[in-house]
This record gives sequence, structure tokens and C-alpha cells, in this order.
Amino acid sequence: MSSINCIFCRIVSGEIQASIIYEDELAIAFRDINPQAPKHILIIPRNHVDSMNKMSAEDKDLVGHLLIAASSIASQEGIAETGYRTIINTGEDGGQTVWHLHVHLLGGRSLGWPPG
Ligand code: 5GP
Ligand code: ZN
Repeated sequence: MSSINCIFCRIVSGEIQASIIYEDELAIAFRDINPQAPKHILIIPRNHVDSMNKMSAEDKDLVGHLLIAASSIASQEGIAETGYRTIINTGEDGGQTVWHLHVHLLGGRSLGWPPG
């Protein structure tokens, strides 16, 4: 997947609209278009990375940054105390449908385990 055809790169550039709730120099976060919980937010790097499979040692700080952003967004959204789930789907079996690395942040209800 090239960044030109990537829907999340187009959200980063502003070409496609999204409900953006957080932005910093490395990442943005926006509400999922098809929410699976009362709070369902996607945290993505500004720069295109296909998936976890394409991460390298150079991405170490970036990946930490995405999780720290998720934690502060959980507080901002009022779900830090009640709890939440962070998920990165990878590849076909993992259920990945958008090939730009993203962390799902889900909360606002009790989530079942194990996932389907
Ligand atoms: P994946 O299945 O790759 O882990 O997650 C992709 C997520 O992106 C899905 O939950 C899907 O609803 C969401 N999504 C796909 N296209 C768009 C879009 O154009 N805008 C927003 N806000 N979310 C999207
Ligand atoms: Zn992209």
C-alpha cells in the first residue's frame, strides 16, 4: 500500500474528513467511523507504516509514543478509571483492513474476552 492511496494518510493530510480529537507532531487520533464501543478511537502515526510487520528498531520511540497518546486520550475521554482496551490488528488473520498502522482504543462498556 502506498501512502498516496492510503485512507489514513489522506486523513492526516486533511483530504478526507475525520473527527480528530488529538494531534501532536508524530501522531493523530480520530473517532472510528464504525464504532464498536461507546468510545472507539484510532491513534495513528502521521507517517505511513503499513502494519506491525513493517516496524523496525527505528520505530521504537514512535510505537511508545502511540501508546502514551492512547493513555492520555483515555483520560481525556473519561475512560481511564473504568478501563479500556488497546488493539493493533495485523494482517488478514488479525483482522487488519486499513494498511496504515493504527492502535484501536475501545472503552465505555465492558468488553468481552477472548475476542472473536
Ligand atoms: P482494522 O480493521 O484495520 O484494524 O481497523 C480499521 C478501522 O478503521 C475500522 O475500525 C474502520 O471502521 C475504520 N475506518 C475505516 N475507514 C475509515 C474512515 O474513513 N474514517 C474513520 N474515521 N475510520 C475508518
Ligand atoms: Zn498511510
